[in-house]
Amino acid sequence: MTSSALTKTGRGMRLSEFPPPNTNLYRLMHTQIHTASLCYHFMRAGLMGRFEVETSREESLENLSQFSFPEYHEYPLPARTVRNAKSGEEEATKHLQSIAVSLESWQIREMGPMGVVQEVDMFLTMMLYFHGKLKTTGSESWDNIFGMVQRSRYDKRIIPCMFFGSAQGCLNPACGYMHKPAVVSSIRRDILDDRRKTLNKPTGKQLAKEKMELWIEYVEQHPEKVDAKDVEKRIKRLPPSSRKYCANPQCSIVWSFKDPIPNLEMCGRCLWTFYCSRKCQKIDWPRHKAEPCAPADEIIENDALWAPNGKRKGTELDIIFE
Ligand SMILES: [Zn+2]
Ligand SMILES: [Zn+2]
Ligand SMILES: [Zn+2]
Repeated sequence: MTSSALTKTGRGMRLSEFPPPNTNLYRLMHTQIHTASLCYHFMRAGLMGRFEVETSREESLENLSQFSFPEYHEYPLPARTVRNAKSGEEEATKHLQSIAVSLESWQIREMGPMGVVQEVDMFLTMMLYFHGKLKTTGSESWDNIFGMVQRSRYDKRIIPCMFFGSAQGCLNPACGYMHKPAVVSSIRRDILDDRRKTLNKPTGKQLAKEKMELWIEYVEQHPEKVDAKDVEKRIKRLPPSSRKYCANPQCSIVWSFKDPIPNLEMCGRCLWTFYCSRKCQKIDWPRHKAEPCAPADEIIENDALWAPNGKRKGTELDIIFE
């Protein structure tokens, strides 16, 4: 940051005056400035290919790569050890697919592209492939975003501020990243649309339970030889959007929309929760009440109910394996 940016701000206010020094807001502002700088320079060093990578080839379950930035002098970047699976081209293609999938499910939320850079492991692995033989991050939309940043010569003004759309907002009056309300509100609209879709789709837990049941069924039918690829193929054949599950986690019975739909009990208060029977609805009430049971619009607007990756809190996988 230049000295003029430090003293004179866009609002005609001295940075030393707002937020007042020695307050929590002031400390938070400096955390924001540092976090944004780290993300920006990781992005820049990554896109410029100014990193060195040393991959361990030890006999271990996972290969580790050490990224260092000896040729990058604009900002001190710490070396990072990341997990990756860099090897032959076939492996790389597989890995790119998995990056694409995780990026699709990773909503960049109000933080914009720098929110993805903040996931340093994922970002540096993307950079490995971006500069590798295949010349792609594994995701077309991310290739486009990174191409745009490269062509602008890393112009901060085209990169949405990580904190502008956050609950406390961007506290830095001299922030140089993009602060367009229209961009933030269109991102917000996308987020709400995604959340709305999520409400009508099976949760991760429901899918995991169904996968587990497919596995058990398969192992029972083929006790002598389990072909993992064959099971995965069957799982992929299931179109998730064409099904509804009983919301009671102990039941989770599934209907395909092709089957004649039995009399589903819909929760009359929220209208987005379904049960196979009155009995299941009664059993599930304490859980669903706390979810909470509220009209879809209220659920969608309430940030406290959603994790940054776009998943509704409480629908994560772990609880099913209790
Ligand atoms: Zn900002
Ligand atoms: Zn049920
Ligand atoms: Zn309800």
